[in-house]
Amino acid sequence: MPDQTKLAGGVKALQQEAKEKAVQNKAKELDIPYVNLLTMPLNPDLSKVIPKEVAEAAGVAVFFQSGKKLRVAAADLDEKAQALIEKLRKDGYWAEVSLASEESIRAAHKIYFSKQYQEKEKVETEFREEDLGSFAEEIAGIQELKTKIEAASSDAALKYIQVGAYKTHSSDIHFQPEEKMVLVRFRIDGVLKSVFEITRKTYDGLIKEIKYLSHLKLNITNIPQDGQYSFILNKRQINVRVSTLPTHYGEACVMRLLDSQRSAIPLEELGFEGESLKNIQGAVQLTHGMILVTGPTGSGKTTTLYTMLQSIDTQAKKVITLEDPIEYNLPGISQSQIDEDQEYDFASGLRAILRQDPNVIMVGEIRDLETAETAAQASLTGHLVLSTLHTNSALESIPRLINMGVKSFILAPSLDLIVAQRLVRKLCPDCMESKPISESEKSHIAEVLEKIRAKGIEAPVMPTELKSAKGCDKCSHTGYKGQVAIAEVLRFDQLLRNMILENKPMPEIYDYISKQCKMLTLKEDGVLKVVSGLTTLDEVERVAK
Ligand SMILES: [Zn+2]
Repeated sequence: MPDQTKLAGGVKALQQEAKEKAVQNKAKELDIPYVNLLTMPLNPDLSKVIPKEVAEAAGVAVFFQSGKKLRVAAADLDEKAQALIEKLRKDGYWAEVSLASEESIRAAHKIYFSKQYQEKEKVETEFREEDLGSFAEEIAGIQELKTKIEAASSDAALKYIQVGAYKTHSSDIHFQPEEKMVLVRFRIDGVLKSVFEITRKTYDGLIKEIKYLSHLKLNITNIPQDGQYSFILNKRQINVRVSTLPTHYGEACVMRLLDSQRSAIPLEELGFEGESLKNIQGAVQLTHGMILVTGPTGSGKTTTLYTMLQSIDTQAKKVITLEDPIEYNLPGISQSQIDEDQEYDFASGLRAILRQDPNVIMVGEIRDLETAETAAQASLTGHLVLSTLHTNSALESIPRLINMGVKSFILAPSLDLIVAQRLVRKLCPDCMESKPISESEKSHIAEVLEKIRAKGIEAPVMPTELKSAKGCDKCSHTGYKGQVAIAEVLRFDQLLRNMILENKPMPEIYDYISKQCKMLTLKEDGVLKVVSGLTTLDEVERVAK
């Protein structure tokens, strides 16, 4: 009787909604925040903060942690709960209490302490690289995964897919339902690759498992949902951001894998060199000012920001971040997670962290005027502010901020550095070979090198050969392995600031930048990387037209 079940589910949902409303009102009376843990993704790692018996006896659950900062939900502010909060504070935690329904607390405890989860975690940590042995680098090996997946239970099948993606250094897993089957694709080095197809029946089980783990509503398939969970692989915690989307043939799902313990990559290895590198290194050490990293989704902005943050001396400076989501854990840095449902957004979060007396602030993204203005003002009052902006080029960022409504007298003095970047695939070192340069390549490269020299930047001589790759087992027969950034790095000088301050027309500003600021464009930086044998003209064309 599916209809009756649905109806009963609906009534239950309404009753719960009424209960939540009552708790919300009570929280308002007590003047403390309210939280609904039933709809919030919870990190099972938070179970470690308060022991099971204590948490259950006091009716509390930790739902957020950033260093020593905790947010704790309590069903009731009775003596037991208050004593526990007091103890947490004595232990050096900064604990903020929110009111939640009993159902909320129970749901959190179920995720944190149930045997089911504890057992699941055990299975996960037993999952070792040897199990997948030769699948390591080859997509061909992944084909064999398919057989295992079709035969396994849903939770085991998901683990196979996770390990397969991790081993191939995939950043995303895509499930795309088609009429008769579901296409599974991995994004490797920024490019989507079909790995295999699975039956709709297997996918049904998988998507339920994924939605369960990421606390999405299982019975809802007709609206997009977002959530997250994490798994442990070889003692590394991998965070997974899940997003589902209703499509013609059913619910599509994309999972982004984020390795929380990924080690720092130096700026040089990301692809920054010469003047660009020097300009970034200089700006990161400033005591105040604003650094923006721009580019479309998947252009490596976050990695660049994180690398910048990691080059800051956190012993001498207090660094606080405001992120959505926290992608990697950074030692020595206080990271704070945005929670729009709790009205903890970039703008309000930024005001809150300014009261924490930071030296350096990283704001995940500037999306609105309030965040932009607060960030710019913070940079004028003794803070170094780092953020990202969704624009295609460094130049475009200036009119974007002005169109957002930021006053030029605030913007002009605050901006220090704008980085615009893209990622290109690197040639595979194992099958790379030299080929004589063709006439058309020659004229294309000559034109770009000439432009670079005209800006007063040193350019290499025309090469007689270029590198290309035919593909081998090591690079899944693509010819490429790994990625490197191509970037334009704009350092602001006093003249440029004055032009913004005086509201000079944009073409005049662009003209000044291209003639006086010694800034390479994305394409110019890309061509230099082609000449030095890192990538190909095709790759540069693909990302920087
Ligand atoms: Zn190769």
